[in-house]
Formats: sequence, C-alpha cells, structure tokens
Amino acid sequence: MANLKSREEIELMRESALIVSQTLGMLAKEIKPGVNTLYLDQLAESFIRDHQAVPGFLGLYDFPNTLCVSPNEQVVHGIPNDKPLEEGDILSVDCGALKNGFYGDHAYTFEVGEVAEETKKLLEVTKKSLYIGIKAFCLGNRVGDLGNAIQSYTESHGYGVVRELVGHGLGKEMHEAPEIPNYGKRGSGKKFLDGMVIAIEPMINQGTKNIRHFSDGWTIKTADNLPSAHFEHNVALIEGKPQLLSTFDYIYEALGIQSDEEVPFKRMVSKA
Ligand code: MG
Ligand code: MG
Repeated sequence: MANLKSREEIELMRESALIVSQTLGMLAKEIKPGVNTLYLDQLAESFIRDHQAVPGFLGLYDFPNTLCVSPNEQVVHGIPNDKPLEEGDILSVDCGALKNGFYGDHAYTFEVGEVAEETKKLLEVTKKSLYIGIKAFCLGNRVGDLGNAIQSYTESHGYGVVRELVGHGLGKEMHEAPEIPNYGKRGSGKKFLDGMVIAIEPMINQGTKNIRHFSDGWTIKTADNLPSAHFEHNVALIEGKPQLLSTFDYIYEALGIQSDEEVPFKRMVSKA
C-alpha cells in the first residue's frame, strides 16, 4: 500500500514535524562540551510534552528514551547516557513526536565545539545529499531514483552508504511503506505518488559502509570506527513536487547559520 495522505492529514503531519523541528532547535543551544545526552533527552521529553505532544520513540519497539543520540562512530539508535560530550565530537540527534495521531521524525548531526575539517566535510556532504534526495522525490520518479541520487553524490566523495538502515513512509505509524533506501538503481522500485509522506534520512559513513551492532541491542556503529553522519527530513509529495514538513530553521537560528537549501522545498504561500 502506498499510504497516501489527504491534504488535511498532511497539515496535521506538518504540526507533528514542527514540534520535532522546534525540539531540535531548542537542543542546538544546549549541545556543547561537558553536557551529557541524558540531560538532552530530559529537555526534549519535557519540551515535547509541553507542546501537547508525546515523544514518538519512547517505548516504540521498547526503545527506552525520547532521543536517539549517536556520537562520532555511532550511526543511529544510540541510547542517552551520562557521559559528557567532548570538544570535537559530532552528535546525531534523532527525535520523534506524536500529535493528533501522526508522527514527526527527523534528525540532525551537530558539531560539539570545534570539529576536524574532514568531519565537517562529512556533515556538509551528508546534509547536501539529503536535499539531493528530496529533489528526487517528485512525480515521474521512483524509490530507486531517490536512492541513486543520494548514493551517487556521497560515493563520489568516497563515503560509505549504510545499507541495513533506510528511510521510510511516515504517518499514523512511525515506519510505513515504502522503505526509502539511500542507495538504488535508477528507474527501479515504487513510483512516487501525490499524497505520499516520507522520511528521507541519509546515514553516511566517512569510511566503510559496513556497520556493527552494540550488545545493548540498539546502538549501531561503523565497522571501522570512523565517524558517521545522519540528517533526516519529513517530506510530502504535493502537486508532483516535494514539500518539506520539517525544517532546520530553528537549528540555524540557534546556531547563527545562514542557509537557503530548504527554500525550493518550502510551502508556497499564495499571494493575497
Ligand atoms: Mg528518525
Ligand atoms: Mg526515520
């Protein structure tokens, strides 16, 4: 099933995504050396509940927290703990919220203090690949076109594209069909249709694409212990074109970053 959403449902999903966007923006100001991820998790849970929503990950498949926090060589699904962040770390923060029966789910990889140049490059390329993937989410394309766009761009930089973890449809369930891999063959897979809402989430490794599972049953890290980056947006297909439901604007505002990368995918505001 394609799980197509009505325009009304998409507007509700925009609200759910907005809460996650604002949560990540709030966290952006708190992520610095010396802070631990359990503290960030508590801030996020309170923030989401204060906004009449429910943490989307807490208890989902028995996950114990509100945030997935994955520093450095961890790819995704890291569990918050009391270990302080250190200067030069990167931290992927993935957050979900449930409001009005719909999920929002997106992620950003933050720099903790001053980060090595080659790590900055990994973040820059991974984030750019997210927007390249979003651009490919349009009528006439298929799932494989989107995956191929992300894969071609990131592999051209020598990076590894994680195979075992993928993006997904989003809606009343956190994970709906179709799966949205960050790799693939052009012209293959399901056709994109108006009303689809998906989470696009490149997970890109500086070195090998291969991963390892921690014994905690959750955390996933790179096999070579080199850093991994993760950026995720929620996107609806409306009138043949991708439209962002989530935004990194709150993060950029908190960090003083100028960016116009979301502009082509924002909702058009009709003229008065
Ligand atoms: Mg996510
Ligand atoms: Mg996701």
